[in-house]
Amino acid sequence: MPFPRSPRWPKSVVGWAVDSRQKGVPFVREELRRLHKEILATLSQVSTEKEVSEVRVKSLGRKGTLTQLLKRLGSLPEADRREIGRLANEIKEDLERRIEEAISHIRERERKEALERERIDVTLPGRRIPVGTKHPITQILDEVIDIFSRLGFEVVEGPEVELDYYNFEALNIPKGHPAREMQATFFISDEVVLRTHTSPMQVRTMEKKRPPVRMICPGAVYRCDSDPTHSPMFHQVEGLLVDRGITFADLKGVLTVFVHQMFGEKTKLRFRPSFFPFTEPSAEVDIECFICGGIGCGVCSNTGWLEILGSGMVDPAVYEFVNYDPEEVTGFAFGLGIERIAMLKYGIHDIRLFFMNDLRFLKQF
Ligand SMILES: [Zn+2]
Repeated sequence: MPFPRSPRWPKSVVGWAVDSRQKGVPFVREELRRLHKEILATLSQVSTEKEVSEVRVKSLGRKGTLTQLLKRLGSLPEADRREIGRLANEIKEDLERRIEEAISHIRERERKEALERERIDVTLPGRRIPVGTKHPITQILDEVIDIFSRLGFEVVEGPEVELDYYNFEALNIPKGHPAREMQATFFISDEVVLRTHTSPMQVRTMEKKRPPVRMICPGAVYRCDSDPTHSPMFHQVEGLLVDRGITFADLKGVLTVFVHQMFGEKTKLRFRPSFFPFTEPSAEVDIECFICGGIGCGVCSNTGWLEILGSGMVDPAVYEFVNYDPEEVTGFAFGLGIERIAMLKYGIHDIRLFFMNDLRFLKQF
């Protein structure tokens, strides 16, 4: 923004004084008014506070055009000086007022523009906060817990770092028993292990409680295995029911209800003889393969059946560890692997996918 600087404006006090003396008060008055007009014209073109400040400095500042002019009034005759002084002061006051006005106009305009810019459109939909979902293993765990809770089973939890005594010995698996070889164990010390199954809670629960006992124990278990179907950490749910007069029919009844609620009312199941050191007799439960409907496919190894849990009547030898009288009470126990059920249910072939925390995988559940 070029600031007006009239070529006719005398540069020096001497020059101006000479001019004013020669041409008289009317000349000075004219020059003052012309300067006034020019400053106002400049002021009308500015659009920012900074530019207005520049106009103020260049006209009313210590070295400003009007200030310089007022300084030079001393060279005029006394009578002229008063008249011109009054006029100059009027112009100065007018400029000060106009400058203040210009600043408040600019501020008002900028405020309006900012409001316009930042206007909130209340009709726009809000930003969604991404919501996480439960891990597929947690979902299956919740489902299993839900079914057994409705059947009156209490949920208990136990230590993952467990004594050899609870993990093996009190479950009728003494040191040197071949069943120990089947559970590749992480040993903390000779007597302390990472629990290889949730079964220790059978003993811990019966130690604390007299019959009837009806509990499930969900939780993580550990074995040193790692391949597409084995993970060093996985999850089991243990179940135990002990009372007077419990028979294998109760076991079949409870597990049939569970299978029907978990996999559908029409799911066929079978109890296949098996062996566990802490149950006698023992049975594994298979369900008809829901992929092929029992015809035989890759998932069920062409057998038409899928193994989903182990079970059996509690071995009387276990009752001796907890001072229950095997002549008085009987009961059954079962254990199922959560990852196995999740893999079957969702058609997942690699157990390790559950623990990689890849959101592309986890988001599908
Ligand atoms: Zn099949």
